Amino acid sequence: MTARILVMPGDGVGPEICREAVRVLEALASDHGLDIELEEALVGGAAIDAEGVPLPESSLTAARAADAILFGSIGGPKWDDQPRDNRPESGLLRLRSELGLFANLRPAILYPQLAHVSALKRDIVSGLDIMIVRELTGGIYFGKPAGRHMNANGKREAFNTMRYDEDEIRRIGRAAFDIARARGGRLCSVDKANVLDVSQLWRDVMTELHAEYEDIELTHMYVDNAAMQLVRAPKQFDTLVTGNLFGDVLSDAAAMLTGSIGMLPSASMDTNGKGLYEPVHGSAPDIAGQGVANPLATILSVAMMLRYTLDRGDLADKVENAVGYALDRGLRTRDIMDDETQMASTQEIGGAIVDML
Ligand code: ATP
Ligand code: MG
Repeated sequence: MTARILVMPGDGVGPEICREAVRVLEALASDHGLDIELEEALVGGAAIDAEGVPLPESSLTAARAADAILFGSIGGPKWDDQPRDNRPESGLLRLRSELGLFANLRPAILYPQLAHVSALKRDIVSGLDIMIVRELTGGIYFGKPAGRHMNANGKREAFNTMRYDEDEIRRIGRAAFDIARARGGRLCSVDKANVLDVSQLWRDVMTELHAEYEDIELTHMYVDNAAMQLVRAPKQFDTLVTGNLFGDVLSDAAAMLTGSIGMLPSASMDTNGKGLYEPVHGSAPDIAGQGVANPLATILSVAMMLRYTLDRGDLADKVENAVGYALDRGLRTRDIMDDETQMASTQEIGGAIVDML
């Protein structure tokens, strides 16, 4: 069956990097039997400019109808004075909640050719390949009650609630166990069960679920220790699963272990395997339109799409291998360059990947 892919380029470097990722998809379609249909829709600042809102109804309808979404990046100084509920970023938040994208997958992979760009010593990070699975639609970012007010003592007071019910935990838990099974077979659940009731429930439910996944090794870790271990010895981890807040912090820390924001893909999935795939980095307005943005985070997001939505792990491997070969050949955008390599443009990198495919 033909898979429908919606491309939402967005703002800043989004259109440039999506163009290269689309070339990769088209090459797979023409030479490797990938059965897809591509469509494009407005989102973010581009949509505000054209239609006044960051997520027009037509874009939302197209997103609902799609099997997978390739998303560029949104935002930029041009839209800084938009009211808070009409900012480019709110287009993505709405898309996530409307589509029920509850599982955020963020791999942190360090290609051996790029060990020099990491902040850590080569032997600590070389060959790093971990996956952080973050719950994306619950927890303290959405828990009620929340708000701010004057309290009885006349002091300003504010509060949020970290709330999960067992179904929400089970849902993200299953997603994480499945991913661990497809990877190295080890899952570490991160919580703060020594202090928080919500984390005690999290740990209970993960432990119960483990009965359905006896082939997977499950461990638990407190979030403070997990942060320390990520920096001290990140290669001890295979797959991590955690809630919305802890995942937000840990996945950014893990991203920096690799040192190269231009290399990091991500996926946000619903319960049926539909996903939104996007680079971890933002719209990079400082380099937009110059042809210097690294397209590999977006091309690697295509690889995740092939693996997790389109069920073409074989083609995902091909794309990831092509990225490795391009790096072997010394092709680098500015963000990952060193003394021995030459600078290539966004388009040259995309073209090299297409040639190798
Ligand atoms: P956001 O708020 O959307 O996360 P940000 O301003 O915090 O955006 P980015 O837009 O990701 O962060 O940019 C951070 C820095 O990384 C910038 O200097 C930018 O030029 C650089 N950068 C981001 N993406 C890329 C890329 N694909 N290639 C090269 N450099 C990039
Ligand atoms: Mg940022």
